Amino acid sequence: MSASGYVETVLGKRDANQLGRTLTHEHLSLTFTTFYVQPPSHLKRFFNGKIELQNVGMLRQYPYSDLYNLVYNDQCTKDAVLEDVKLYKEFGGGTIVENSNHGLQRNIPFMRKVSETTGINIIAGTGYYVNATQTNQDLSKEEMYNVMLKEMTIGCEDYPDVKTGFIGEVGSAWPITPFEKRAIQATAEVQQQLKCPVSFHPGRNPAAPSEIMRIYQEAGGDARKAILSHLDRTILSPEDLSEFADDAKCYCQFDLFGSECSFYQLSPSVDMFSDAQRIDRVKHLRDEQRLDRVLLSHDIHTKHRLIKFGGHGFSHILNNVVPKMRLKDFTSEEIDTLIIHNPRTWLTS
Ligand SMILES: [Zn+2]
Repeated sequence: MSASGYVETVLGKRDANQLGRTLTHEHLSLTFTTFYVQPPSHLKRFFNGKIELQNVGMLRQYPYSDLYNLVYNDQCTKDAVLEDVKLYKEFGGGTIVENSNHGLQRNIPFMRKVSETTGINIIAGTGYYVNATQTNQDLSKEEMYNVMLKEMTIGCEDYPDVKTGFIGEVGSAWPITPFEKRAIQATAEVQQQLKCPVSFHPGRNPAAPSEIMRIYQEAGGDARKAILSHLDRTILSPEDLSEFADDAKCYCQFDLFGSECSFYQLSPSVDMFSDAQRIDRVKHLRDEQRLDRVLLSHDIHTKHRLIKFGGHGFSHILNNVVPKMRLKDFTSEEIDTLIIHNPRTWLTS
């Protein structure tokens, strides 16, 4: 891993220099039905278990109000994901870091199939998602540590032939629950031992990212190997972002690219960023000489964001965000830093 310059993919070790353009926070298969939210009562008829031209606009506003949209592991989703990852390859993609772990029903055989079929490298994750998705909330820190260590070094519990290449996404709500705190601490202990990359999903409160990093570092985790995901719905002002980046020293990830909707159903008081605003935040960090600590992704986890269901797909950053970044005066070197070099450094050194 670290010294060797190799990463562990679902098809075995790969030279880190062959990863190419990398998305660091995506999902190919998971279950998200726990997060169902009732639609506004006068709009109920648009959420009918189908995705069609007549309601895809409504689904973009209220993606969590249709159970069919939240089922992201049925056969039609698998077919759509496979086609979408093929397009990602066609448009220049190289690697996807799959963030579904314990709690999100990670599907390693499917990751292998997608990788074999498309030629895209796929890296699986271990660790524990938020408390609300767990069936055994009594797991001790030691039990979690043992599972993660085994999956990183020997093989996965559910698929012993495959090792995970990182710990993530390690989820917490706000306030952080005792289970989630143990999961963060166990992550830190495995990280300290293996020097491996990790990725955190924060609760929807501006204080959550700092609190995660505090618990993680106190337990021995290396901030330089940690990603704080979803900052584009969590730390909104440029000043707060600079302060966080300064204190935390982790990777700051903007991973909701393609979500172009001001209304954020899971946290209605948040003014969700547009892609242009996400790029402006990245630019802000670039102007502070922090570009080497920034990562970009889409975090696709519902049907409606896949191309086959009317969405932007896994190639959106390559096809649509990168040209917009060029228009906003990012150089080719800076873009390569964000989408090739930073992911590689996070995964290997
Ligand atoms: Zn997440």
